[in-house]
Amino acid sequence: MTKPHDIIVIGAALNGLAAALALGGRHVKRPLDVVVVDAKDPRAFSTNAFDGRASAITAAARRMFEALGIWDKVAHEAQPMAEIIVTDSAVPGGARPVLLQFGEADMKGGPSSHMIENRFLYGAMLEAAQASPHIRFCVGQAVEHYHFKPGLAAVTLADGTALKASLIVAADGRNSPAREAAGIKLVGWPYDQMGLVATVEHELPHNGRAEEHFTPSGPFAILPLPGNRSSLVWSERTEQAQRMLALPMEDFEEELKLRFGTHLGEVKLISGRHGYPLAMYLAETFTAPRLALVGDAAHVLHPLAGLGFNLGLRDVAALADCIHDAAGLGLDIGSEAVLDRYTQWRRFDTVATGAMMDGMNRLFANTNPVLTLIRRAGLLAVNRMGGMKSMFVSEAAGISGDLPRLLRGERV
Ligand SMILES: Cc1cc2nc3c(=O)[nH]c(=O)nc-3n(C[C@H](O)[C@H](O)[C@H](O)COP(=O)(O)OP(=O)(O)OC[C@H]3O[C@@H](n4cnc5c(N)ncnc54)[C@H](O)[C@@H]3O)c2cc1C
Repeated sequence: MTKPHDIIVIGAALNGLAAALALGGRHVKRPLDVVVVDAKDPRAFSTNAFDGRASAITAAARRMFEALGIWDKVAHEAQPMAEIIVTDSAVPGGARPVLLQFGEADMKGGPSSHMIENRFLYGAMLEAAQASPHIRFCVGQAVEHYHFKPGLAAVTLADGTALKASLIVAADGRNSPAREAAGIKLVGWPYDQMGLVATVEHELPHNGRAEEHFTPSGPFAILPLPGNRSSLVWSERTEQAQRMLALPMEDFEEELKLRFGTHLGEVKLISGRHGYPLAMYLAETFTAPRLALVGDAAHVLHPLAGLGFNLGLRDVAALADCIHDAAGLGLDIGSEAVLDRYTQWRRFDTVATGAMMDGMNRLFANTNPVLTLIRRAGLLAVNRMGGMKSMFVSEAAGISGDLPRLLRGERV
């Protein structure tokens, strides 16, 4: 057993790397001693073939990346969203009445979000974490055993390496073995939907416009990337999605074009395709003795508003405040008081956001004519109310509510 660390972060994907940087990165005022563990080698995550996804990074998340010294490494790969439109389509590829539109006039403090391919986020965060003398990596070995003891937490890796620390931060994804080992239950349900993800190139510029087309089988999102490219998140019923994934590539491209429409001219598929089962799950509690859950380990949402990773960053930023405040006072960073403060800070926001995403998915996936009328009338009414639209934009930008320091762009 090596000498105890301050923190063991399990998971070196988006949320694990963000946690490592917020606790032990070079831009942290008093960095803690962090060890990051992952069953996989995170260098593989920065290739496009890895997950093919792009993320909508909110204004608050951008401030956090600035405070952590990441933003200038990815800014040239980021596409600001200048406009967002929401349509309600009864049939794929059919007429799409625009019900809600947010333009530059509604986004007075700058764009509410930027689109960035995940491979660039993984690459920049990994490089920054590797550059910190306070962050050590132990990768290619899964954690096999967990010990949550009153005074200290410990893990054993598949090769027998034993690590101990004051606190374990579990960023080990939706099936979180750490959450399971601590006996934390999940509430939620799978949707009978998959998210198909692909990147396309189109003839005409998107001018920074993001489009969310609600169809009865789920939302079809066209999200702008730098150049004449867009990232697609196409939600379909599981059976239909699996049929799409099994099609020859040319046939898949034809199906995709049908849904995409012709408004951006000729469209060409320029990536592979990936399918993600969609679900909504919330951990019953975000902490256990000497353990804090962040990211998908704590919550999985429908990707219709592109908030999953942003919610993970909110966890990381709140946890960083709780831990650094305790460390600054010379207190135990894994104590119950620190973990209670973290749970209280994050629990309500997560439940509220999860319920909203779930409600929207259900409301729009419903073909009942009365509900269709109500949702269309509701969105058209919001579209005419300037104040209401600004409120939606602040929410989407993640700049409302009780923000931890990193989300305000301040160093911890
Ligand atoms: C289709 C789709 C589109 C999305 N779009 C957006 C978007 O636009 N904006 C947004 O904010 N979010 C979006 N999301 C959500 C976002 O992608 C996820 O919330 C985020 O990637 C989760 O990251 P994570 O680090 O928590 O978990 P993961 O990426 O699942 O990483 C978990 C890591 O833990 C490691 N691990 C697991 N078990 C062990 C073990 N026993 N030992 C060691 N290591 C272990 C794994 O190897 C892995 O590297 C989208 C999601 C989907 C499905």
